[in-house]
Amino acid sequence: MAPPSLKIEHARYLVTVDPQRRIIQDGSVLVEGGRINRIGKAADLAGARADRVIDARHLVVTPGFLNGHMHVSYAHAVRGIFPDDAGSPLTHVFKLQTAMTEEEEYYTSLLCLVELVKNGTVCFVDPGSTKFPDACLQAYTDAGLRVIMGECVTDLESPLSLPRYPAPEAVERTAAFIRKWHGRLEGRLRAWAMPFSPDTCSAELLRALRRVADEQGTCLTLHHGSGPQARKEYQARYGLSPTLYLESIGVLGPNVVLAHSLGLDDAEMDCIARTGATVAMCPVTAAKGARGVPEHGRMPELLARGVKVALGCDSPNNSNHLDLVRAMNMAAIQYKDARQDMRLIPAETALEMATLTGAQALGMGDEIGSLEAGKKADFVLFDTQRPEWQALFNPINNLVYNADGRSVHTVIVDGRVVVDAYRQSFVDEGRLFAKVQEIGEQLQARTGIGFPRSRWPIV
Ligand SMILES: [Zn+2]
Repeated sequence: MAPPSLKIEHARYLVTVDPQRRIIQDGSVLVEGGRINRIGKAADLAGARADRVIDARHLVVTPGFLNGHMHVSYAHAVRGIFPDDAGSPLTHVFKLQTAMTEEEEYYTSLLCLVELVKNGTVCFVDPGSTKFPDACLQAYTDAGLRVIMGECVTDLESPLSLPRYPAPEAVERTAAFIRKWHGRLEGRLRAWAMPFSPDTCSAELLRALRRVADEQGTCLTLHHGSGPQARKEYQARYGLSPTLYLESIGVLGPNVVLAHSLGLDDAEMDCIARTGATVAMCPVTAAKGARGVPEHGRMPELLARGVKVALGCDSPNNSNHLDLVRAMNMAAIQYKDARQDMRLIPAETALEMATLTGAQALGMGDEIGSLEAGKKADFVLFDTQRPEWQALFNPINNLVYNADGRSVHTVIVDGRVVVDAYRQSFVDEGRLFAKVQEIGEQLQARTGIGFPRSRWPIV
């Protein structure tokens, strides 16, 4: 059923991200049938009527944000238990995830969705974390976001407790998953092929999964990294760097999203550009995880080659927040500092990665990512009646450098209001928070992963 018509009226600024990158002062948007019907100066749309009118004179409107790499599932229940000196707790992470029950995953996913949408995310890629999609479907339905998901598969041995199957079975599971889920929720749900990484999947499996993605008209995403050590190992094993290895086995292409992608050399970046593959980078995870952005971060070089880069928040135990405004901020500032060059990743580029470039990276650039007539109606409305938005002359600078997700006032997906003046209405938050706290305690007790929660005594 088509949502009621909607008019956003007298927006202080409409940041369109359209081909001219217009920022319309005192602008209005008319939404009909879930799509943008008209957009322009308020005076030009003065006669347009709608079922609901939002007075946006104190609001800045941007396209909805896309989160290109966002592990939903277990981590909300144990967020923050890993102290700063725990190193990479990946083996614990997967143990906790494996121990999660259907009901627990439903609640932690629901909390993740609440946090995502309240920070302006309208679409996210869950790279195969969700074990019980049937149980989580209700949460996806209620939250109203766009969800991209898939079944995580591997066929090689790994220290991580990842789901492992013989290659033919992994391929069949992926194909069945896509057939079952792709296009549901009125098209808001997409299913992709999701092998975990080149280290945990054979060439045979990766190649077959790319074929499945091609045949079913969908995408494939996997974790990807390089760097001197990995290059040395891959060179010894395959005679190629990790990225060139992926190309050589026929995996890279325009419907392939490489996640993280740190430590690439020039030839690897040329290869990504040549094949049309895209990248989802998680700037906060890279910084917090001490991945060495000055040495290994290549965002400016990828963008300069025309590679479509999306931003991601990774996981509540990596970044740990799910706020793309903070991710934009990190993307915009970390390269300036790392290279001692203030011109790198301007605020506008950071916003593009969270919107249009991100949508293009995820194969959705024709439908969402900018405010243009004909596109689906996904918006974030920011409240400028807050100290961090003063004084306001350049909305993109204020958004990327001053604000964070807390000034997200209203969020619209597919023409439906999913956050309305700071409130979502699909779940009782107080009850949900208590439930997830309880799940976190039970998970730790069950798995025996009793990490020291604090290096200071809690008395
Ligand atoms: Zn990941």
